Amino acid sequence: MSFKDLKLIKPLLKAIETSGYTEPTLVQQKSIPLILEKKDVIVSAQTGTGKTAAFALPILQLLFDKQDAPKRGKKIRALIVSPTRELAVQIQQDFKDYAKYSNIRSLAIFGGTSIEPQIDILEKGIDILVATPGRLLDLHKQDYINLDYIETLVLDEADLMLAMGFIDDVKKINHLCPENKQTLLFSATIPYKIEQLANSILKVPERVDV
Ligand code: AMP
Repeated sequence: MSFKDLKLIKPLLKAIETSGYTEPTLVQQKSIPLILEKKDVIVSAQTGTGKTAAFALPILQLLFDKQDAPKRGKKIRALIVSPTRELAVQIQQDFKDYAKYSNIRSLAIFGGTSIEPQIDILEKGIDILVATPGRLLDLHKQDYINLDYIETLVLDEADLMLAMGFIDDVKKINHLCPENKQTLLFSATIPYKIEQLANSILKVPERVDV
């Protein structure tokens, strides 16, 4: 199977080629079509399987599809919640790489670092936000972040978020987003507590196991 078979659009295919990927990994083959259909999906996949591109590519395509170029960058339309700063930075770098032939803008926000530069970029406007839970809730409380226009919410490394005690924050973040959004949950393993979380947040989810 090729990336073209996944019905990805030209600007994304071009970015994929620049990245040097020749074919989609298994998690990409299974997840991308479901995400493009706007389904809620639970994906069980380890780091290193290509899971970031499995959600980043279809999210970018959905943003391309629905939004006229001049309107881009005004509202946050996709939110990726990550347990750690390192992972948030990596995810945002991947979005940036895959969005290089577009004007879609992304930002990573995380704690333990000065808040002002993050606020400056938020005020200029972005399409995609990658965030750790604490800093996200903090900036939301201070009114720098509006989650009313989120179309896709990704909970990445959900098992790690559980282990780090972020589940209540994740539930709060879910409630701050619109009811009718698409939700994607990625986790290396799906223990009972993650299953419970998924059942309380996702709507008739599809499942992908790799
Ligand atoms: P991840 O599982 O998202 O941490 O990705 C692991 C690594 O695989 C990253 O360095 C990606 O750049 C790379 N990668 C993602 N998709 C592909 C692909 N289809 N072919 C080759 N490498 C890939």
